[in-house]
Amino acid sequence: MTIFYRFENKLYANITNKCPCACVFCIRKNGDGVGGSDSLWLEHEPSIEEIKQAFDSFDKTGLHELVFCGYGEPMSRSGVLIEIAKYVKQTTDMKIRINTNGLVDFINPEFDPYSMRYIIDCVSISLNAPDPESYAEVTRPKYGLPSFNSMLNFARLAKSIVPSVMFTVVDVISPEQIKRCQELADGLDIPLRVRHYVTDNESYT
Ligand code: SF4
Repeated sequence: MTIFYRFENKLYANITNKCPCACVFCIRKNGDGVGGSDSLWLEHEPSIEEIKQAFDSFDKTGLHELVFCGYGEPMSRSGVLIEIAKYVKQTTDMKIRINTNGLVDFINPEFDPYSMRYIIDCVSISLNAPDPESYAEVTRPKYGLPSFNSMLNFARLAKSIVPSVMFTVVDVISPEQIKRCQELADGLDIPLRVRHYVTDNESYT
């Protein structure tokens, strides 16, 4: 099963298929894999040892950044993620980014965000929408309307802990909503990246 895969000169970690959301743009609906991966559906949730072994045996030539992403919400396994990130920092000089929906407070209330300090270089958070109602329509989180503010709170806190935080939206929302997302991101002093919706996973970024 594919735990690590290479895509656009980055190493991606696929440590879980769990996710509390059902985003309308989720790439999991479009195929089984991304870029060079065959299938990102895991046979089982890999143990820490399995992930370390897969990392050690992966040819990382020319790769300088590890991104926790894959076919699920990586913070569904926040404790495992931090353990693996520590291992990567101890054994390589790779930068580490987490791509997340920002709902770890709901997913794992025990998670200590300060455990990211000095280990995680960047957190990319799916903003997805400018208000709780449209967020719920686009992201469809199982935690309902409070999810939006929880995600924003995580973004504010992450900004005080890790060197780089960014927001993303996918252009499935209207230009007016994207403009409001930009204003919201500006107000929090967090850069916003607008991603183009693709149904072809080969060009997913
Ligand atoms: S949070 Fe990510 S993995 Fe989960 S449904 Fe949305 S896009 Fe898919």
